[in-house]
Amino acid sequence: MSQSSSLQGNRKLRIALSKGRIFNETLPLFEAAGITPAEDPEKSRKLILPSTEPDVEFLIVRASDVPTYVQHGGADLGVVGKDVLLEHGGEGVLEPIDLKIAQCKLMVAGFPDTDLNSNKRFRVATKFTDCARRHFAQQGRQVEIIKLYGSMELAPLVGLSELIVDVVDTGSTLAANGLVPLEHISNITSRLIVNRASMKIRHSRISDILERISSAIN
Ligand code: AMP
Repeated sequence: MSQSSSLQGNRKLRIALSKGRIFNETLPLFEAAGITPAEDPEKSRKLILPSTEPDVEFLIVRASDVPTYVQHGGADLGVVGKDVLLEHGGEGVLEPIDLKIAQCKLMVAGFPDTDLNSNKRFRVATKFTDCARRHFAQQGRQVEIIKLYGSMELAPLVGLSELIVDVVDTGSTLAANGLVPLEHISNITSRLIVNRASMKIRHSRISDILERISSAIN
């Protein structure tokens, strides 16, 4: 079936994934549900990959776009980190399964001698601007948020900010740049998300996939 014909009528079930860490850790779970990409996404430039199941295809999207595709029905299902989902807000998507993969923590970090209790108005560099704003607002602390798209650890080193908000796994990236975790915001794992309307319209097929993935996790 061509890509355009799959957009019409009784179209395939679409699963949005991002390449890299999440994809590699998600693959065994989908394999357990009997669904595998028919092509290697690391080698293919295609953005719609057929699967071994005739009624399912994978969409390769940027991690931060997964909730948007699922929210607006461009994809029926998606796999996304809770960090991205918190930042998106989770509007219009169901979050039925914690896949318990790609575990890390969303943290406030900075230099070890930072006094978070001082009255200073800290500058916070992050790509998680909404999460950071919410976190500091809950504590009644006024901060200036500086939006970055990556390499947050650099910001304190060049005086762009005193603090960063970023995901931390082993902490070795922070340590390599002379930074330490200062405050825990949230534990993060990858989640399977589902478009609300798809869950009703394609209930039996999606439930079947969810059940198989759940038992693969357990
Ligand atoms: P680490 O040095 O192990 O603490 O890893 C930290 C870096 O890896 C951060 O800069 C993050 O961007 C990235 N990272 C670690 N864990 C994850 C994850 N589960 N999802 C996305 N990015 C992650």
